Amino acid sequence: MKAKEYYYEYIAPEEGGKSYQELQAIDMKSRFGYVSADSVGKNFTPRYSNDFLLDYLIEDFARNADASLQNRLENIFVAKRFNKVPNARAKGSKKDYEGDLIFFQVGLSDACFQYAILLSNFQYMKAYLKDYGINHPKSLEQVSVFQDKLIKLSNAQKRWSSYWDFIQIEKDFNLIEGSQSEQEERAAEIALLTDRFILGHEIAHHLLGHTGNYDIGKGYIELLPDNCKLWHKSDSVHAKEFQADALSLLMTCNATKELSNHQDRENPKTGSALGALLTLTVLGQLAGDIHKPTRTHPKVAVRYKQAMHILVELTYHGFLIHIFEDFLSFHKLLHTTQNRGFTGDIDDLFKD
Ligand SMILES: [Zn+2]
Repeated sequence: MKAKEYYYEYIAPEEGGKSYQELQAIDMKSRFGYVSADSVGKNFTPRYSNDFLLDYLIEDFARNADASLQNRLENIFVAKRFNKVPNARAKGSKKDYEGDLIFFQVGLSDACFQYAILLSNFQYMKAYLKDYGINHPKSLEQVSVFQDKLIKLSNAQKRWSSYWDFIQIEKDFNLIEGSQSEQEERAAEIALLTDRFILGHEIAHHLLGHTGNYDIGKGYIELLPDNCKLWHKSDSVHAKEFQADALSLLMTCNATKELSNHQDRENPKTGSALGALLTLTVLGQLAGDIHKPTRTHPKVAVRYKQAMHILVELTYHGFLIHIFEDFLSFHKLLHTTQNRGFTGDIDDLFKD
C-alpha cells in the first residue's frame, strides 16, 4: 500500500479524498492571490499531498531532482491537517505502507504567511522611499501602511509564542485588508517560498533517514564545505535539524525551472533565500530568544547562520548581500516593536 492510500484509508477516512482547501473552506483568492480558485476544488486530485499548493511544490521538487531523488519524491504523501497533528514531523513505518508519509505544520506556515504580508509591505515601502524620497505623499502612505501592520502583527505575536511543537494562530487573523492587491500578490509569492522551505525541510528528514526510511540525502549535503555543515559540531538531535535545513536549501536552490509558470519575477535561488530566511526569522520571533536552544532544536541564530553560509556557497553573492541587508533592517523593525527574536545586529547574529 502506498503512503497516500494508507493516509486516506486509515488516518483520515473522513477527508474522503478532498483537498485541504476544500475541507477548510479556504478562499484561495485571499490566501494565494494569483492561484485560480477554479483550479482547486473539484479539478484537484491529490497525488503528492491533500493540499493543492504542497502538491504543486512536491511535483516541482521531483521534476528538478536527479533520478534517485525523483524516485523517492514520487512516493511521498504530505498531509496538511488543521490542528490535529501538533507537528509537521512525519510518521514513518516501513511495515504499513510504501514511501514516506509526512504531516505538514500548518501553524508555522500560517504564521509565515502573515510575516510574508509584512515583508511584502516592507519591500514596497523601501522601493517608494528610494524612488520618491521620504516626504512624498506616496512614500508617507507606504510608511503608514507598514507601521500599522507591524504593530498589528507585533500585538498578535505576543499571543502566538509557541512551545516549538505547536503553533496555532487565530483562524481569522489576517494582515491583508483587501486594498493593496499588488502587494498581496507579492505576499502570496513570498508565502509560497516559505512553504517551500518548510516542506523541503520536512521531506529532508525522510530523505536523510531520520524517520526510519533509508538515507539518500547525506551524500548531497556532505559535499558542502565545512562552514555549511554545522551538524558536525552538534549533538545528534540538533544535527538532524541542521541537516534538514541544508538539504532543503539544496532542493530549493537547485530547482532549475521557474517556481511558478505564470511569472518569472523570482529566480529560484533568490526565492530559496527569501523562503529560508523568512521562515527562520518567524521561528526566531516565536522562540523569543534566538540564542537559546531547545531539547529538539538548535539555536535559531545558528540555523540562520548556517543558512546564510549555504546560500553564499550556492548562489551569486551580489543579490544575496541585498537580501541579507534587507532582513537585517526588517529584523531591526521587528525587534523595535516586539522586543524579541532577531535584533538586526549582525554581531548579535554571529555571536554563537
Ligand atoms: Zn526538523
